Amino acid sequence: MISPRKTYIIANWKMNFTPGESSLYLQRLSNRIQPSRNVQVILAPSTVSLQPLSLQINRRQFKLAAQNFYWRDYGAFTGETSVSQIRGFVDYAIVGHSERRHIFNESEEDIAQKVAAALRNNITPILCIGETAMEREDGETAAAIYSQLANGLNEVSDRDIDRIIIAYEPVWAISTNKNACPAGITDIEEAQALIRKHISKLYGKEASETIPVLYGGSVNSDTAGGYLSIKGIDGLLVGSASLIADSFCAIVETAKGIKNE
Ligand code: PEP
Repeated sequence: MISPRKTYIIANWKMNFTPGESSLYLQRLSNRIQPSRNVQVILAPSTVSLQPLSLQINRRQFKLAAQNFYWRDYGAFTGETSVSQIRGFVDYAIVGHSERRHIFNESEEDIAQKVAAALRNNITPILCIGETAMEREDGETAAAIYSQLANGLNEVSDRDIDRIIIAYEPVWAISTNKNACPAGITDIEEAQALIRKHISKLYGKEASETIPVLYGGSVNSDTAGGYLSIKGIDGLLVGSASLIADSFCAIVETAKGIKNE
């Protein structure tokens, strides 16, 4: 079960760093980020770096997340990596990232199966949802959020909802620097409220109040504090800024400052 209202700072390194570079970068972060009770730092390197980093990390300091996996446990699926093959290395897995949905055409069915496979293998899924620019312009943000939540959680029982993290990542804000305006902040507060409302309908009030809802989309060390201060936002999913030690460490420090550590 996820501890209620912890802050999560997740570094999505995307398709960057070789295993050797990942190891050196982890070493740099380890020297600067101290373990914390209230702020959980999660690193999501490429699949090829998961095994070596799992031997290197101090799990009190960092946890590892998979960026992707296939939902079947084994079989004739050339080129894929199953969640059961990586479960010894990771505690979390990103599922439904917009780059997987839009570049690799992952379907809602795939995403629901991945959430279920992660849970089956004792891995916490970080389910990413968010509207496209067009859905937003057409006033369909709420509908997009509802349908991605309902589909992504299709296989999740009442018993397992407390093992899920939701990341609200509007597609228009990812890697665009388009989110740092005050209007964006109001939108994010509304979006987390919509997410919690829908979770309440599907799983009840308690689940809606305890489920962690993170924000992601062009967060950097200047904007992190603003996002972390938004009501109902329990952490950040950071892409580009997580690749620069100074920026990422500053984001983690900001989160600890907000938690008064
Ligand atoms: C992401 O990869 O989920 C992300 C939010 O990336 P960026 O911070 O680069 O927008």
